[in-house]
Amino acid sequence: MSLTRKRILITGGAGFLGSHLAERLVGAGHDVLCVDNYFTGRKDNVAHLMGNPRFEALRHDVTFPLYVEVDEIYNLACPASPVHYQYDPVQTTKTSVIGAINMLGLAKRVGAKIMQASTSEVYGDPTVHPQTEEYRGNVNPLGPRACYDEGKRAAETLFFDYLRQHKVKIKVVRIFNTYGPRMHPNDGRVVSNFIVQALRGEEITLYGDGSQTRAFCYVDDLIEGFIRMMGTEPDVVGPINLGNPHEIPVRELAERVIELTGSASRIVHRPLPQDDPLQRCPDITRARQVLGWQPTVKLEDGLRRTIEYFDRLLTERGVEHAA
Ligand code: NAD
Ligand code: UDP
Ligand code: UDP
Repeated sequence: MSLTRKRILITGGAGFLGSHLAERLVGAGHDVLCVDNYFTGRKDNVAHLMGNPRFEALRHDVTFPLYVEVDEIYNLACPASPVHYQYDPVQTTKTSVIGAINMLGLAKRVGAKIMQASTSEVYGDPTVHPQTEEYRGNVNPLGPRACYDEGKRAAETLFFDYLRQHKVKIKVVRIFNTYGPRMHPNDGRVVSNFIVQALRGEEITLYGDGSQTRAFCYVDDLIEGFIRMMGTEPDVVGPINLGNPHEIPVRELAERVIELTGSASRIVHRPLPQDDPLQRCPDITRARQVLGWQPTVKLEDGLRRTIEYFDRLLTERGVEHAA
Protein backbone atom coordinates (compact mmCIF):
# COMPACT_ATOMS: atom_id res chain seq x y z
CA MET A 1 0.00 0.00 0.00
CA SER A 2 1.44 3.39 -0.93
CA LEU A 3 1.19 5.81 1.93
CA THR A 4 0.54 9.52 1.77
CA ARG A 5 1.33 10.83 5.21
CA LYS A 6 -1.51 13.04 6.38
CA ARG A 7 -2.15 15.35 9.32
CA ILE A 8 -5.33 14.07 10.89
CA LEU A 9 -7.42 15.66 13.64
CA ILE A 10 -9.61 13.42 15.79
CA THR A 11 -12.01 15.26 18.09
CA GLY A 12 -13.01 13.05 21.01
CA GLY A 13 -9.73 11.22 20.34
CA ALA A 14 -9.29 10.06 23.95
CA GLY A 15 -12.67 8.34 23.99
CA PHE A 16 -13.54 4.75 23.24
CA LEU A 17 -13.80 4.94 19.44
CA GLY A 18 -11.37 7.86 19.07
CA SER A 19 -8.53 6.04 20.79
CA HIS A 20 -8.90 2.99 18.52
CA LEU A 21 -8.99 5.23 15.47
CA ALA A 22 -5.90 7.14 16.66
CA GLU A 23 -4.01 3.89 17.16
CA ARG A 24 -4.94 2.68 13.69
CA LEU A 25 -3.99 5.95 11.95
CA VAL A 26 -0.69 6.37 13.82
CA GLY A 27 0.05 2.73 12.95
CA ALA A 28 -0.52 3.56 9.28
CA GLY A 29 2.11 6.32 9.50
CA HIS A 30 -0.08 9.43 9.79
CA ASP A 31 0.34 12.39 12.15
CA VAL A 32 -2.58 12.39 14.55
CA LEU A 33 -3.77 15.30 16.67
CA CYS A 34 -6.18 14.16 19.36
CA VAL A 35 -8.41 16.90 20.75
CA ASP A 36 -10.47 16.10 23.84
CA ASN A 37 -11.85 17.80 26.94
CA TYR A 38 -11.65 14.48 28.85
CA PHE A 39 -15.32 14.59 29.86
CA THR A 40 -15.83 10.89 29.15
CA GLY A 41 -12.48 10.13 27.53
CA ARG A 42 -9.35 9.25 29.48
CA LYS A 43 -5.64 9.87 28.98
CA ASP A 44 -5.15 6.18 29.80
CA ASN A 45 -6.87 5.34 26.50
CA VAL A 46 -4.07 7.00 24.53
CA ALA A 47 -1.21 6.62 27.05
CA HIS A 48 0.44 4.01 24.82
CA LEU A 49 0.60 6.56 21.97
CA MET A 50 1.97 9.46 24.02
CA GLY A 51 5.66 8.76 23.37
CA ASN A 52 5.11 8.41 19.62
CA PRO A 53 6.30 11.46 17.67
CA ARG A 54 3.38 11.01 15.24
CA PHE A 55 0.86 11.50 18.06
CA GLU A 56 -0.11 14.69 19.84
CA ALA A 57 -2.86 15.32 22.41
CA LEU A 58 -4.50 18.66 23.14
CA ARG A 59 -6.98 19.41 25.93
CA HIS A 60 -9.67 21.48 24.26
CA ASP A 61 -13.45 21.79 24.21
CA VAL A 62 -14.84 21.80 20.65
CA THR A 63 -17.52 24.33 21.59
CA PHE A 64 -14.63 26.84 21.35
CA PRO A 65 -12.90 27.66 18.05
CA LEU A 66 -9.79 25.72 17.13
CA TYR A 67 -7.12 26.92 14.71
CA VAL A 68 -4.86 24.13 13.46
CA GLU A 69 -3.66 22.99 10.03
CA VAL A 70 -4.83 19.50 9.08
CA ASP A 71 -5.78 17.43 6.01
CA GLU A 72 -8.58 15.35 7.54
CA ILE A 73 -10.93 15.68 10.52
CA TYR A 74 -12.85 12.89 12.24
CA ASN A 75 -15.45 14.68 14.39
CA LEU A 76 -16.18 12.27 17.26
CA ALA A 77 -16.40 14.62 20.23
CA CYS A 78 -19.67 13.99 22.09
CA PRO A 79 -20.57 11.82 25.06
CA ALA A 80 -22.21 8.69 23.66
CA SER A 81 -23.79 6.86 26.56
CA PRO A 82 -27.25 7.92 27.76
CA VAL A 83 -25.99 8.35 31.35
CA HIS A 84 -23.25 10.74 30.26
CA TYR A 85 -25.10 12.70 27.60
CA GLN A 86 -28.03 13.29 29.96
CA TYR A 87 -25.73 14.47 32.79
CA ASP A 88 -25.44 17.96 31.23
CA PRO A 89 -27.89 17.95 28.30
CA VAL A 90 -27.29 21.58 27.36
CA GLN A 91 -23.56 20.92 27.02
CA THR A 92 -24.38 17.83 24.92
CA THR A 93 -26.37 19.87 22.41
CA LYS A 94 -23.67 22.56 22.41
CA THR A 95 -20.99 19.95 21.76
CA SER A 96 -22.85 18.51 18.78
CA VAL A 97 -24.05 21.78 17.26
CA ILE A 98 -21.39 24.38 18.10
CA GLY A 99 -18.72 21.68 17.87
CA ALA A 100 -19.90 20.86 14.33
CA ILE A 101 -19.94 24.56 13.34
CA ASN A 102 -16.38 25.05 14.60
CA MET A 103 -15.02 21.91 12.96
CA LEU A 104 -16.81 22.71 9.69
CA GLY A 105 -15.45 26.26 9.87
CA LEU A 106 -11.98 24.79 10.35
CA ALA A 107 -12.47 22.33 7.45
CA LYS A 108 -13.67 25.20 5.25
CA ARG A 109 -10.66 27.40 6.09
CA VAL A 110 -8.01 24.71 5.51
CA GLY A 111 -9.81 22.69 2.81
CA ALA A 112 -9.81 19.52 4.93
CA LYS A 113 -12.06 16.51 4.49
CA ILE A 114 -14.33 16.10 7.49
CA MET A 115 -16.26 13.06 8.71
CA GLN A 116 -19.10 13.29 11.20
CA ALA A 117 -19.72 10.49 13.70
CA SER A 118 -23.50 10.53 13.55
CA THR A 119 -25.67 7.90 15.14
CA SER A 120 -28.52 5.46 14.77
CA GLU A 121 -30.25 7.68 17.35
CA VAL A 122 -31.18 10.03 14.50
CA TYR A 123 -33.83 7.35 13.77
CA GLY A 124 -35.19 7.63 17.35
CA ASP A 125 -37.63 4.83 18.25
CA PRO A 126 -37.90 3.56 14.69
CA THR A 127 -41.13 2.52 13.00
CA VAL A 128 -39.20 1.13 10.01
CA HIS A 129 -37.15 -1.99 10.53
CA PRO A 130 -34.27 -2.51 9.84
CA GLN A 131 -33.34 1.14 9.41
CA THR A 132 -32.23 2.34 5.97
CA GLU A 133 -30.62 5.73 5.44
CA GLU A 134 -33.79 7.00 3.72
CA TYR A 135 -35.83 6.59 6.90
CA ARG A 136 -36.34 10.01 8.50
CA GLY A 137 -36.79 8.78 12.03
CA ASN A 138 -39.14 8.98 14.98
CA VAL A 139 -37.43 11.18 17.55
CA ASN A 140 -39.17 12.73 20.54
CA PRO A 141 -37.77 16.28 20.44
CA LEU A 142 -38.77 16.97 24.07
CA GLY A 143 -37.60 13.82 25.87
CA PRO A 144 -34.43 13.15 27.87
CA ARG A 145 -32.63 11.64 24.85
CA ALA A 146 -33.37 14.64 22.62
CA CYS A 147 -30.20 16.57 23.52
CA TYR A 148 -28.24 13.79 21.88
CA ASP A 149 -30.61 12.79 19.06
CA GLU A 150 -31.55 16.31 17.98
CA GLY A 151 -27.99 17.58 18.49
CA LYS A 152 -26.75 14.90 16.09
CA ARG A 153 -29.57 15.61 13.63
CA ALA A 154 -28.70 19.34 13.64
CA ALA A 155 -25.04 18.42 13.12
CA GLU A 156 -26.00 16.39 10.04
CA THR A 157 -27.97 19.40 8.74
CA LEU A 158 -24.92 21.62 9.24
CA PHE A 159 -22.71 19.15 7.38
CA PHE A 160 -25.00 19.12 4.36
CA ASP A 161 -25.41 22.92 4.45
CA TYR A 162 -21.63 23.43 4.54
CA LEU A 163 -21.44 21.07 1.56
CA ARG A 164 -24.10 22.97 -0.43
CA GLN A 165 -23.12 26.48 0.67
CA HIS A 166 -19.31 26.24 1.03
CA LYS A 167 -18.39 23.04 -0.87
CA VAL A 168 -16.78 21.55 2.24
CA LYS A 169 -15.66 17.93 1.65
CA ILE A 170 -17.97 16.09 4.02
CA LYS A 171 -18.65 12.46 4.98
CA VAL A 172 -21.40 11.37 7.38
CA VAL A 173 -21.59 7.93 8.99
CA ARG A 174 -24.42 6.79 11.25
CA ILE A 175 -22.95 4.49 13.87
CA PHE A 176 -25.01 1.75 15.50
CA ASN A 177 -24.22 0.24 18.95
CA THR A 178 -20.50 -0.49 19.03
CA TYR A 179 -18.56 -2.19 21.83
CA GLY A 180 -15.06 -3.32 22.71
CA PRO A 181 -12.04 -2.67 24.91
CA ARG A 182 -11.72 0.89 26.34
CA MET A 183 -15.41 1.45 26.79
CA HIS A 184 -15.76 3.36 30.03
CA PRO A 185 -16.48 0.85 32.83
CA ASN A 186 -19.09 3.18 34.39
CA ASP A 187 -20.60 4.71 31.30
CA GLY A 188 -23.87 2.84 31.67
CA ARG A 189 -23.93 1.27 28.21
CA VAL A 190 -25.27 -2.20 28.12
CA VAL A 191 -22.20 -4.21 27.08
CA SER A 192 -19.86 -2.59 29.63
CA ASN A 193 -22.53 -2.72 32.36
CA PHE A 194 -23.25 -6.41 31.87
CA ILE A 195 -19.59 -7.44 31.65
CA VAL A 196 -18.50 -5.43 34.69
CA GLN A 197 -21.48 -6.70 36.69
CA ALA A 198 -20.78 -10.29 35.67
CA LEU A 199 -17.07 -10.04 36.52
CA ARG A 200 -17.84 -8.55 39.93
CA GLY A 201 -20.52 -11.16 40.62
CA GLU A 202 -23.11 -8.39 40.93
CA GLU A 203 -26.70 -8.52 39.74
CA ILE A 204 -27.12 -8.02 35.97
CA THR A 205 -29.49 -5.08 35.48
CA LEU A 206 -31.85 -5.84 32.61
CA TYR A 207 -34.06 -2.86 31.80
CA GLY A 208 -37.65 -3.73 30.99
CA ASP A 209 -38.32 -7.33 30.04
CA GLY A 210 -35.21 -7.47 27.85
CA SER A 211 -37.17 -8.04 24.65
CA GLN A 212 -35.94 -4.73 23.15
CA THR A 213 -33.38 -5.46 20.45
CA ARG A 214 -29.99 -4.06 19.50
CA ALA A 215 -27.28 -5.17 17.07
CA PHE A 216 -23.71 -4.94 18.38
CA CYS A 217 -20.67 -4.10 16.24
CA TYR A 218 -17.12 -4.84 17.39
CA VAL A 219 -14.92 -1.73 17.46
CA ASP A 220 -12.27 -2.97 14.96
CA ASP A 221 -14.96 -3.53 12.34
CA LEU A 222 -16.34 -0.04 12.85
CA ILE A 223 -12.91 1.64 12.58
CA GLU A 224 -12.35 -0.17 9.28
CA GLY A 225 -15.65 1.34 8.10
CA PHE A 226 -14.54 4.86 9.17
CA ILE A 227 -11.29 4.57 7.23
CA ARG A 228 -12.98 3.23 4.10
CA MET A 229 -15.53 6.05 4.25
CA MET A 230 -12.85 8.73 4.61
CA GLY A 231 -11.06 7.24 1.59
CA THR A 232 -14.07 7.45 -0.75
CA GLU A 233 -14.36 9.80 -3.74
CA PRO A 234 -15.56 13.36 -2.97
CA ASP A 235 -19.06 12.64 -4.33
CA VAL A 236 -19.59 9.96 -1.65
CA VAL A 237 -20.89 11.97 1.29
CA GLY A 238 -23.38 9.62 2.96
CA PRO A 239 -25.11 9.28 5.25
CA ILE A 240 -24.03 5.65 5.48
CA ASN A 241 -25.07 3.26 8.26
CA LEU A 242 -22.19 1.45 9.97
CA GLY A 243 -23.13 -1.34 12.33
CA ASN A 244 -23.57 -5.05 12.68
CA PRO A 245 -26.88 -6.33 11.31
CA HIS A 246 -26.96 -9.30 13.70
CA GLU A 247 -29.90 -8.25 15.90
CA ILE A 248 -30.55 -9.80 19.32
CA PRO A 249 -32.83 -9.11 22.29
CA VAL A 250 -30.96 -7.45 25.16
CA ARG A 251 -31.96 -10.40 27.37
CA GLU A 252 -29.93 -12.69 25.12
CA LEU A 253 -26.91 -10.43 25.48
CA ALA A 254 -27.16 -10.78 29.28
CA GLU A 255 -27.30 -14.56 28.94
CA ARG A 256 -24.29 -14.64 26.58
CA VAL A 257 -22.22 -12.51 28.95
CA ILE A 258 -23.07 -14.72 31.94
CA GLU A 259 -22.13 -17.80 29.91
CA LEU A 260 -18.82 -16.38 28.60
CA THR A 261 -17.68 -15.04 31.98
CA GLY A 262 -18.82 -18.16 33.84
CA SER A 263 -20.36 -15.74 36.33
CA ALA A 264 -22.76 -16.69 39.12
CA SER A 265 -24.56 -13.36 38.68
CA ARG A 266 -28.32 -13.42 38.30
CA ILE A 267 -30.47 -11.21 36.13
CA VAL A 268 -32.66 -8.58 37.86
CA HIS A 269 -35.17 -6.33 36.12
CA ARG A 270 -35.14 -2.54 36.29
CA PRO A 271 -37.61 -0.12 34.66
CA LEU A 272 -37.13 0.57 30.96
CA PRO A 273 -35.80 4.17 30.62
CA GLN A 274 -38.07 6.75 28.94
CA ASP A 275 -37.87 6.77 25.12
CA ASP A 276 -35.69 3.64 25.05
CA PRO A 277 -36.02 2.38 21.45
CA LEU A 278 -37.78 -1.00 21.32
CA GLN A 279 -35.83 -2.26 18.35
CA ARG A 280 -32.79 -1.19 16.41
CA CYS A 281 -30.88 -2.86 13.59
CA PRO A 282 -28.98 -1.33 10.69
CA ASP A 283 -29.65 -2.01 7.04
CA ILE A 284 -26.06 -1.96 5.75
CA THR A 285 -26.79 -2.49 2.06
CA ARG A 286 -25.33 0.93 1.24
CA ALA A 287 -22.12 0.30 3.22
CA ARG A 288 -21.72 -3.05 1.46
CA GLN A 289 -22.19 -1.49 -1.98
CA VAL A 290 -20.31 1.78 -1.55
CA LEU A 291 -17.54 0.77 0.85
CA GLY A 292 -17.37 -2.98 0.23
CA TRP A 293 -17.65 -3.14 4.02
CA GLN A 294 -19.36 -5.48 6.43
CA PRO A 295 -18.56 -6.59 9.97
CA THR A 296 -16.37 -9.68 10.33
CA VAL A 297 -16.07 -10.19 14.10
CA LYS A 298 -18.68 -12.51 15.62
CA LEU A 299 -20.44 -11.39 18.79
CA GLU A 300 -18.93 -14.21 20.81
CA ASP A 301 -15.36 -13.35 19.74
CA GLY A 302 -15.86 -9.64 20.32
CA LEU A 303 -17.38 -10.26 23.74
CA ARG A 304 -14.45 -12.51 24.72
CA ARG A 305 -11.94 -9.77 23.82
CA THR A 306 -13.98 -7.17 25.70
CA ILE A 307 -14.32 -9.42 28.75
CA GLU A 308 -10.51 -9.93 28.77
CA TYR A 309 -10.04 -6.16 28.74
CA PHE A 310 -12.41 -5.51 31.65
CA ASP A 311 -11.00 -8.46 33.59
CA ARG A 312 -7.52 -6.92 33.33
CA LEU A 313 -8.79 -3.42 34.13
CA LEU A 314 -10.64 -4.53 37.25
CA THR A 315 -7.64 -6.56 38.43
CA GLU A 316 -5.26 -3.62 37.88
CA ARG A 317 -7.56 -1.37 39.87
CA GLY A 318 -7.64 -3.92 42.64
CA VAL A 319 -11.40 -4.16 42.38
CA GLU A 320 -12.74 -7.36 43.79
CA HIS A 321 -14.41 -9.46 41.15
CA ALA A 322 -15.95 -12.81 41.61
CA ALA A 323 -15.91 -14.50 38.21
P1 NAD B 1 -16.87 8.32 24.31
O1 NAD B 1 -17.72 9.01 25.33
O2 NAD B 1 -15.93 7.28 24.77
O3 NAD B 1 -16.05 9.38 23.47
C1 NAD B 1 -16.43 10.70 23.25
C2 NAD B 1 -15.22 11.59 23.47
O4 NAD B 1 -15.57 12.97 23.22
C3 NAD B 1 -14.69 11.53 24.90
O5 NAD B 1 -13.30 11.34 24.87
C4 NAD B 1 -15.07 12.88 25.48
O6 NAD B 1 -14.23 13.30 26.52
C5 NAD B 1 -15.01 13.77 24.26
N1 NAD B 1 -15.81 14.98 24.36
C6 NAD B 1 -17.09 15.10 24.78
N2 NAD B 1 -17.49 16.38 24.71
C7 NAD B 1 -16.42 17.09 24.23
C8 NAD B 1 -16.21 18.46 23.94
N3 NAD B 1 -17.17 19.39 24.14
N4 NAD B 1 -14.99 18.84 23.47
C9 NAD B 1 -14.01 17.92 23.28
N5 NAD B 1 -14.17 16.60 23.53
C10 NAD B 1 -15.36 16.20 24.00
O7 NAD B 1 -17.87 7.73 23.22
P2 NAD B 1 -17.59 6.87 21.91
O8 NAD B 1 -18.38 5.64 22.01
O9 NAD B 1 -16.15 6.78 21.64
O10 NAD B 1 -18.29 7.78 20.79
C11 NAD B 1 -17.54 8.57 19.88
C12 NAD B 1 -18.51 9.21 18.88
O11 NAD B 1 -19.22 8.20 18.17
C13 NAD B 1 -19.55 10.11 19.53
O12 NAD B 1 -19.74 11.24 18.72
C14 NAD B 1 -20.79 9.26 19.54
O13 NAD B 1 -21.96 10.04 19.48
C15 NAD B 1 -20.61 8.41 18.28
N6 NAD B 1 -21.35 7.14 18.37
C16 NAD B 1 -20.89 6.11 19.15
C17 NAD B 1 -21.62 4.93 19.22
C18 NAD B 1 -21.16 3.74 20.02
O14 NAD B 1 -21.87 2.73 20.07
N7 NAD B 1 -19.99 3.75 20.63
C19 NAD B 1 -22.84 4.82 18.53
C20 NAD B 1 -23.29 5.91 17.80
C21 NAD B 1 -22.53 7.05 17.72
N1 UDP C 1 -13.50 28.24 13.16
C1 UDP C 1 -12.57 27.50 13.87
N2 UDP C 1 -11.38 27.25 13.27
C2 UDP C 1 -11.05 27.68 12.03
C3 UDP C 1 -12.02 28.42 11.31
C4 UDP C 1 -13.25 28.68 11.90
O1 UDP C 1 -12.81 27.08 14.98
O2 UDP C 1 -9.94 27.40 11.58
C5 UDP C 1 -14.79 28.51 13.77
C6 UDP C 1 -15.08 30.00 13.83
O3 UDP C 1 -14.89 30.42 15.15
C7 UDP C 1 -16.51 30.14 13.42
C8 UDP C 1 -16.96 28.74 13.01
O4 UDP C 1 -15.79 27.95 12.95
O5 UDP C 1 -17.33 30.51 14.51
C9 UDP C 1 -17.66 28.72 11.68
O6 UDP C 1 -16.77 29.23 10.70
P1 UDP C 1 -17.32 29.86 9.37
O7 UDP C 1 -16.14 30.33 8.58
O8 UDP C 1 -18.25 28.93 8.71
O9 UDP C 1 -18.22 31.04 9.86
P2 UDP C 1 -17.92 32.53 10.31
O10 UDP C 1 -16.48 32.59 10.74
O11 UDP C 1 -18.21 33.31 9.12
O12 UDP C 1 -18.88 32.72 11.44
N1 UDP D 1 -29.76 -1.73 29.07
C1 UDP D 1 -30.03 -2.70 30.03
N2 UDP D 1 -29.25 -2.73 31.16
C2 UDP D 1 -28.22 -1.88 31.38
C3 UDP D 1 -27.95 -0.88 30.38
C4 UDP D 1 -28.74 -0.84 29.26
O1 UDP D 1 -30.94 -3.52 29.87
O2 UDP D 1 -27.56 -1.99 32.43
C5 UDP D 1 -30.58 -1.70 27.84
C6 UDP D 1 -31.13 -0.33 27.49
O3 UDP D 1 -32.37 -0.10 28.13
C7 UDP D 1 -31.27 -0.45 25.98
C8 UDP D 1 -30.12 -1.36 25.57
O4 UDP D 1 -29.74 -2.05 26.75
O5 UDP D 1 -32.49 -1.07 25.64
C9 UDP D 1 -28.93 -0.61 24.99
O6 UDP D 1 -28.59 0.42 25.90
P1 UDP D 1 -27.32 1.36 25.73
O7 UDP D 1 -27.40 2.39 26.82
O8 UDP D 1 -26.09 0.55 25.63
O9 UDP D 1 -27.48 2.06 24.31
P2 UDP D 1 -28.72 2.66 23.49
O10 UDP D 1 -28.83 1.73 22.35
O11 UDP D 1 -29.95 2.68 24.32
O12 UDP D 1 -28.27 4.02 23.14
